[in-house]
Amino acid sequence: MKKFFIIFTVIILSSLSIAAYFQPDVRPGKGVTGFGWLSDYHEGLKGTNLDTPVYFMDSGEEGATFLLMGGTHSNEISTMMTATMFIERAVVKKGRVIVIPYSNKSGVSVNDTRNPNIDHFLPIETKSGPRFIVYGDRRTDPEDQIYPDPEVFKHYQSDFTLEDGAEARNLNRQYPGVADGNITQQLAYAIIQLIKEEGVNINLDMHESDPPGFTYKNSNGSTYSSGRLAYMLVCNPAETALEIGAIAAMEVEMYDLPIKLDQSNPAFRGLSHLEIGNYTDSLSFLCESPNPGMSQQEFPDVLYDEDFPLKHRIGWNLTVISSLIDGYNMMFGDSLEIDNLPDYFEIMDNGFEEYLN
Ligand SMILES: [Zn+2]
Repeated sequence: MKKFFIIFTVIILSSLSIAAYFQPDVRPGKGVTGFGWLSDYHEGLKGTNLDTPVYFMDSGEEGATFLLMGGTHSNEISTMMTATMFIERAVVKKGRVIVIPYSNKSGVSVNDTRNPNIDHFLPIETKSGPRFIVYGDRRTDPEDQIYPDPEVFKHYQSDFTLEDGAEARNLNRQYPGVADGNITQQLAYAIIQLIKEEGVNINLDMHESDPPGFTYKNSNGSTYSSGRLAYMLVCNPAETALEIGAIAAMEVEMYDLPIKLDQSNPAFRGLSHLEIGNYTDSLSFLCESPNPGMSQQEFPDVLYDEDFPLKHRIGWNLTVISSLIDGYNMMFGDSLEIDNLPDYFEIMDNGFEEYLN
């Protein structure tokens, strides 16, 4: 009985510690020159499950600072894996890159609540042996949020509302954040503080959306086509951001890859590309690769789907990143140079696993 009690206690304690200190698997490569935590920019995150690692990749050569964000939504795995590959592989030759691979770390500590058939931990095989990709939820875990969801979500700085109160736990509705607000509002506030303190010149918040090619039924019986947001590059409406976005889109098309250019809708508040651009000096972008896990398939293959495999989505993200950097350099002179990442065709030939540590 005593033995059983000890085992039981160990299980309880270990599951508690997983909930409080969930730590995703990132294996920094030779390009990483510094490491910090998001709570370095806002104390309120310290000791919470939303405090998240920040990686610095500094060339030592004068230039611009680029912020790459993955995992704003933790079910959008190509974004976290693109950021992880960047940290494990890239070498910055000019300027500086800051990477936050798991922007809402609370979301990745729990299962996807939209499709329970997708495993939380997805096994992959890399050169150093088996690893796991974590498929989390789109929002902050309610246990970490502490405050119950409101009946209607209201953006703090405006009168913008959404019917679904759970959107209070969606990081990408909270910008520019609230220093003493709920923990998801504080998370957005901390990211804004990092951007200001580090003098981030340009930032990309990576996302995934439902893939094109499906037709679904509305509740009234009418139908609609999926994939409206897929392959979108959204730019803050600042003139320079729009020009960089246009250059980047042309370059992505040269790879024969799909891309749709859009600009932030000023009426839809709280989104990164709109608010970061408006509340800081950073040129702000958001991109959307197509994730089969966000279709209405019952058992989607989120890693090796025939049409939208993860390697295609990571390859598309990397192409968007390099094209945005080229666009920035065209506007401001050579300010950023990144080496040692695969291009789209290499990643399609060799698989994404090849480029992870
Ligand atoms: Zn998203």
